Amino acid sequence: MAKGKGRDYDLIVIGAGHNALVSAAYAAAAGYRVLVLERRAMVGGAVSTAEIVPGYRFDLGGSAHILIRLTPVVEELKLEEHGLEYLDVDPLFFSPTEDGPPLFFHRDVGRTIEGLEARFPGEGEAYQRFLDDWTPFANLVKEAFLSVPSPWELGKRFVFNRSGGAWKTMLQRIFRPYGEIVDEYFTEEGVKTPLVWMAAQSGPPPTEPMSAPFVLWHPLYHQGGIARPRGGSGGLTQALARKILAHGGEIRTGTPVTRILMEGDQAVGVEVAVPRGASGVSGASVPSGHGSAPRGGPSSSSGSSSGSASDSAWAAPSPEEVAAAPREKITARAVLSGAHASETFLRLLPEAHQPPGARGMRTGNGFGAILRLALDGPVRYADHPGDEARVGLQLLCRNRAQISAAYGDYLRGEPSRDPPMVGMSFSAVDDTLAPPGHEVLWIWAQYYPYRLATGTWDDIAEREADRLLDAFERYAPGTRDRVVGRLFQHPEWLERELALPRGNVMHLEMSLDQMFSLRPFLGVSGYRAHRKGLYLTGASTHPGGGIMGASGRNAARVVLKDLDRNKI
Ligand SMILES: Cc1cc2nc3c(=O)[nH]c(=O)nc-3n(C[C@H](O)[C@H](O)[C@H](O)COP(=O)(O)OP(=O)(O)OC[C@H]3O[C@@H](n4cnc5c(N)ncnc54)[C@H](O)[C@@H]3O)c2cc1C
Repeated sequence: MAKGKGRDYDLIVIGAGHNALVSAAYAAAAGYRVLVLERRAMVGGAVSTAEIVPGYRFDLGGSAHILIRLTPVVEELKLEEHGLEYLDVDPLFFSPTEDGPPLFFHRDVGRTIEGLEARFPGEGEAYQRFLDDWTPFANLVKEAFLSVPSPWELGKRFVFNRSGGAWKTMLQRIFRPYGEIVDEYFTEEGVKTPLVWMAAQSGPPPTEPMSAPFVLWHPLYHQGGIARPRGGSGGLTQALARKILAHGGEIRTGTPVTRILMEGDQAVGVEVAVPRGASGVSGASVPSGHGSAPRGGPSSSSGSSSGSASDSAWAAPSPEEVAAAPREKITARAVLSGAHASETFLRLLPEAHQPPGARGMRTGNGFGAILRLALDGPVRYADHPGDEARVGLQLLCRNRAQISAAYGDYLRGEPSRDPPMVGMSFSAVDDTLAPPGHEVLWIWAQYYPYRLATGTWDDIAEREADRLLDAFERYAPGTRDRVVGRLFQHPEWLERELALPRGNVMHLEMSLDQMFSLRPFLGVSGYRAHRKGLYLTGASTHPGGGIMGASGRNAARVVLKDLDRNKI
């Protein structure tokens, strides 16, 4: 007799973030009875899209699909058969420079080098050297991301690998702060800055020791490129949901898990709250429409920008609704949590089962904020009014000193007064995001503390959104006059609406003490938690945050092995 017979499901998945959905899709495709439970009314977590301003579709979380392009997830799960269509974004980066024409980085290395040479003679050659030196390392990191982490595995890959004696000099550089690595190759701040600003997107500042891999990873941008699902980032998670449903899996949205059920030392299921409006067990269509308009909350005019979304068609039920809702118990052979590790270990697990290591996890103090704008015309950069500048990531940072100054503000508990920004106007490659001739413009900026030295985010959100728009105006004058709607997602908004504690879009700090076998903490990094029947996935686990799906795929391998062998 199969183990766990009599349980409602083989696998319950907590949360419908993209990693959890990837795990669920592999399990459903393998023939297991899978149930996904999501607190929000829409699947996708930080990879979702909604029509926030009528006629304009905004991503609610991540937008640039880079890491997932380096994995086999999309092909293995045949997501294109379930409606996913990736659009390539090329040029990858547009980078204004301080005293002359801007730079473009293309997917094609040769074209990028040509542009660098033309603008800064000698720097193209340096770029080629940088790529030649670090592409093998970047590929090793990529392989490590696609495996279950263990200290042996790392040693094997980096030290005893084919690199011969070169690893000694490489190792020393890997331990350096990423802000300094570029000095070894380049002379021009105009070239160093975009590389460092891209590296800063993972969170740690350019001065952080042992952070060099964030910039040494750069060669892979030319390998996998940058892409966008047609219809918005949520196209990925909608396709994953369809895949799960096509294999008989079930997804319930608007259904927060309130407790993990234990029998002795084994996880045997969950308790959920079933508020009014929670979707029933779904086997037919993707729950909660792809991009339905909110009933209230943020949006619709150039003024309103940062309110609560709890009354919308994509948000989670409010804490009051959850408290008042009836409870239901559901059992399974295995429970896999894709929620933030602090939610799993410190809120959902009964106290007697909470592992001491969980209290040491560092979630940090937020790091970014994003202003989403609906415009009635395209963005036009003063330095390059052509459409080419609208396509890729627009790296709007003057120099490394600007990043350091922004980080200094953050350390004092203040939002950056002069924020470096990344502009994204993907309506340039996807005409489904805005009405014809119109634009969606999203401005991501750093650094923004979750806990402020004085006041609250509700007090300062409007001011900070305006400050961000002012900063953008310096690059593209006239943008303000085109704004017809906006949403400002500050760290508190991200916590409240997307269940990202302290506004950390990577769940936990991405510093070396919380990477590989140390993520989320030593002893549970292999996707099996400390209790039988309980598993983890998501940005809280190796290899961390970002739209990648590697954690979901790695975790699925571990859970499926235990299910296949009847270990649970
Ligand atoms: C504004 C923003 C911009 C970003 N930009 C980029 C980018 O351009 N490129 C990139 O690669 N990455 C980007 N990221 C980061 C990336 O999107 C995230 O790191 C990643 O999507 C996290 O995915 P996940 O699968 O780990 O989980 P999450 O997306 O965090 O999903 C977890 C899910 O669990 C649900 N949940 C939590 N608790 C419960 C519970 N008790 N019961 C039921 N459900 C629960 C949550 O509602 C959520 O849906 C960005 C993120 C944000 C927020």
